[in-house]
Amino acid sequence: MKVLVINCGSSSLKYQLFDMTDESVLAKGLVERIGIDGVLTHQPAGKDKVVIKNDIKNHSIAIKMVVDALISPEHGVIASMTEIGAVGHRVVHGAEEFASSVRITPAVMDALERCIEMAPLHNPPNILGINACAELMPGVSQVGVFDTAFHQTMPKKAYIYGLPYEAYEKYGVRRYGFHGTSHRFVSESVAEMMGKDLKDLKVITCHLGNGSSLAAVDHGKCVDTSMGFTPLEGLVMGTRSGDIDPAIVTFLMKKKNMSVDEADNYINKQSGVLGISGVSSDFRDIENAANEGNEHAQLALDIFAYNVHKYIGSYAAAMNGVDAIVFTAGLGENSITMREAICDGFEFIGAKLDKEANKVRGKAKEISTADSKVKIFVIPTNEELVIARDTKMLCK
Ligand code: AMP
Repeated sequence: MKVLVINCGSSSLKYQLFDMTDESVLAKGLVERIGIDGVLTHQPAGKDKVVIKNDIKNHSIAIKMVVDALISPEHGVIASMTEIGAVGHRVVHGAEEFASSVRITPAVMDALERCIEMAPLHNPPNILGINACAELMPGVSQVGVFDTAFHQTMPKKAYIYGLPYEAYEKYGVRRYGFHGTSHRFVSESVAEMMGKDLKDLKVITCHLGNGSSLAAVDHGKCVDTSMGFTPLEGLVMGTRSGDIDPAIVTFLMKKKNMSVDEADNYINKQSGVLGISGVSSDFRDIENAANEGNEHAQLALDIFAYNVHKYIGSYAAAMNGVDAIVFTAGLGENSITMREAICDGFEFIGAKLDKEANKVRGKAKEISTADSKVKIFVIPTNEELVIARDTKMLCK
């Protein structure tokens, strides 16, 4: 079966076409600037990349262009659209409606509409993508895979906030967590690498990228995660503040005479390592600036490493132990110095980083010493593959 994986943003769309007989990627690409002007970058496996500029007014046109690229006689990889057996969609927020991936039905679409309130920026383009595929490929099964689903196993004590209980009951205010597909993939992969059953392991997964989150995965079930009601909570991120005293928001709104939207922008877009360093939200730029002596850049890196270090400690406490720590996503997979800074001092929980083994980028590898009781790994994440696997499983 060939599975098309779609990840729709408000003005962009990423795709990958998988041949599920061997899980190989036949082609992948990106449509950008949807609704502005439009450009498709298509990469067929083993062939040259093609860039197609076109007026891409909406997501329906974007999906049509993707399918046209996939079946094109020059740079296509399949003979006709009928070869696409199913489509898997990344959906950001499934709230409490979805604890696992589902086949799209009219009832599911209704539930997705109800979830819009929770993710007003992310869910609408996901829904547009599903509708566009249904229009173009009627009869082809579609599946929704949710960023929040993996975290639905958290116990109440981990997801209820210290607010009046009505905030949860009336408005659904609780910890949901995000990056669930990635946390699930790397926790399953680490069990495989260790030759153990995930049901026998306590794992802390660290998804460190532009957005970052940690998850405590106890015997295969997520029991806590650092992102919350929205992806703002938890670690200091590229441009997001992460955990702060909530009173700071109203204090600064008064001091700076900010509107609600301005305050939202301040903590989501102007904060994090960008706000601290004044350099960039990109960790490579910050590392370069720190190496050139920029003290604020160094401070931003120190704060980030300290944050992750503390969270790992608290998740080891939450699970009364830890067997493996996994680093993934752009920063987690690639930054040797950041992993070293995070793991510095972890001998007290039995985790010893092997500094030589840690000199690795973007490859699955164990990076702890042979005598380390807690194993440390780098594992590149692959959310698209999880989406393709779930889609195949649900559409057999
Ligand atoms: P992601 O959101 O997973 O794509 O991760 C993006 C983040 O990873 C950016 O802040 C990048 O600077 C960071 N990153 C990617 N490669 C490296 C690298 N070699 N060293 C440090 N940071 C990196």
